[in-house]
Amino acid sequence: MNKTILHIDMNAYFASVEQACNPALRGKPIAVCGEIAKGSKYPRTIITTSSYEARALGVKGIMSIPEAKAVCPGLILVAGNMDKYIDVSLKIQKILLSFTDTVEVFSIDECFMDVTDILKFHGDAKTIAKEIKTRIKSELGLMCSVGIAPNKLLAKLGSDMKKPDGLTEIKEEDIPSVLENLPIEDLCGIGSHLQEKLNRLGIKTAKGLGDASINLLTNRFGFIGYALKQMGQGIDHSPVKLYNAHDAVKSVGHSHTLTQDTWDLDVVKAYMLMLCEKVGTRLRQYKMAGKTVSLVVRYADFETYGRQKSLGEYIKTGNEIYNAAFSLWKEKFKFDKAVRLLGVSISNLMPDDGQQYLMENMRKQLVITKTVDEINTKYGEFTVKPSAVITAEKFGILNRCGIMSKRLIK
Ligand SMILES: [Mg+2]
Repeated sequence: MNKTILHIDMNAYFASVEQACNPALRGKPIAVCGEIAKGSKYPRTIITTSSYEARALGVKGIMSIPEAKAVCPGLILVAGNMDKYIDVSLKIQKILLSFTDTVEVFSIDECFMDVTDILKFHGDAKTIAKEIKTRIKSELGLMCSVGIAPNKLLAKLGSDMKKPDGLTEIKEEDIPSVLENLPIEDLCGIGSHLQEKLNRLGIKTAKGLGDASINLLTNRFGFIGYALKQMGQGIDHSPVKLYNAHDAVKSVGHSHTLTQDTWDLDVVKAYMLMLCEKVGTRLRQYKMAGKTVSLVVRYADFETYGRQKSLGEYIKTGNEIYNAAFSLWKEKFKFDKAVRLLGVSISNLMPDDGQQYLMENMRKQLVITKTVDEINTKYGEFTVKPSAVITAEKFGILNRCGIMSKRLIK
């Protein structure tokens, strides 16, 4: 049976969220980047997203800050806030889920939807796409591009064709002309390495890939050769996964580059606890509990180590995650160099319906955590916080926009 798939791709996502939250930034060239340490001129990272106003003035995606400032002296730098972007992302997903459960989250700002079964309620796919665009615009103040096609590969291609605010439908009969001169690197899944290898075989367009001999492709790429040929022909049988499929979220993690490298164990501990609190909050939002905790440490010389441990039971509070992360730190990491970045994540997840928390003492801890969550949801993130989080804030780690976003977007 023919399917109708949508791909929803948010435009200049991080920058647009910042502009939606802060009217002072609207219509201005802005760039989202890492945090800016007190007293320093520029942050220590590159630009992650720039607004369309900045792009019009020559700012490009992966420029360093000094490069971007050189082409656009009036560029406004905004410290990124991943929590805020995840928060808005969940709100976008909520809008999509009001249409159908067949919503697959592809990245923080992209989703696939299979609307085949709901076409009859709306007339056609374009009507659904327009309604989604209108709701995302009116409820969240954000623009997106939507691709409509018979499969995921082509829907993604479609959403890429017009930005910002695009709506592109690729019908069955359009497929040959779309693929004819399409550079292979425009196909989702063909990265720069693969592109180079294919180019060396003389394959430059999707049509060229679709027409290539299967022997050539399998000799060069093994079994992937079959998939490549199909991609070149615009064929993709992969289904859009159900939103609630258990593998929707495989792990939950947070990491941050410190605003300055540190030798101070108290700062490391405070910072780690803050990350664990964030991971715990997110985990509970997903209604999950996890069993494997990972800690990543990057030192001042950029050497990076990751270690993990699996626990005998499922956990979900910031404190439990911190206990595991800090014991990893003590057991597996040396503090012989200054620390630049910390990351904490939890994996080996299972849906958590509260059943495994029947023991009274654990329940008490959860009641406290839940109350803290409720207060934070109502009055802003980290209104109530462990004392170590306050230390982390003093060190300039937390940024304050998260609170604003929650209030404005609600
Ligand atoms: Mg995007």
